[in-house]
Order: sequence, then structure tokens, then C-alpha cells
Amino acid sequence: MAYCINHPAQPARAKCKICSDPLCRECKLTKPGGVFCSEKCFTEYERIRKGLDQNEELQKSVGSGRGVLRKLFSLVYIIILLAVIYAILTFLGIDIQQYIPW
Ligand SMILES: [Zn+2]
Ligand SMILES: [Zn+2]
Repeated sequence: MAYCINHPAQPARAKCKICSDPLCRECKLTKPGGVFCSEKCFTEYERIRKGLDQNEELQKSVGSGRGVLRKLFSLVYIIILLAVIYAILTFLGIDIQQYIPW
């Protein structure tokens, strides 16, 4: 059984989310996002959380970049496919030129 870091006689009721210090009912600081031992740890938590959000945004922009690349690749595939069809038809002796209006 852990005891409060500030009150050795008080059994710990919670743990700081950042430094994992055991905290009694009096010492625990309940904040949006969890329980902390001090404002310092809460500030640290906010900093980490904001850092993570930025990382997510970064990943999102990288993801959309991949999407554009995938579209480009599918366009290349279509062109290659058309070229192959054209080559096969030409090979078979079918004059495709007369079917194309340009
Ligand atoms: Zn702490
Ligand atoms: Zn305490």
C-alpha cells in the first residue's frame, strides 16, 4: 500500500499522471485529463498533449500527400493500360486510328 508523498501517514488515493507520485485525497489535483500532484505536472501534461496533437496534424498532412500520390499512380496505370490496349489492337491489325476522332 502506497502512502502520500506529502503525508507519510495518509494512504494514497491516486497517482500523479506525470511523475506517478502517490497522492492522498487532500493532495491530489483533479484536472481535465487526469489527476496530478501539482500545477507543474499539469502544465507538463498539457505540453505533452499539445505536442501529440501537433504530431497528429503532421501525420494527417502526410496522409493526404500520399493520397495525391496514389491518384497520380492510378492515372499512370490508366495511361499504361490504354497504351497496352492500343499496342495489342495495332498488333492484331486493327487500325484504331479511324475510331479516334483526332
Ligand atoms: Zn506529479
Ligand atoms: Zn497528501
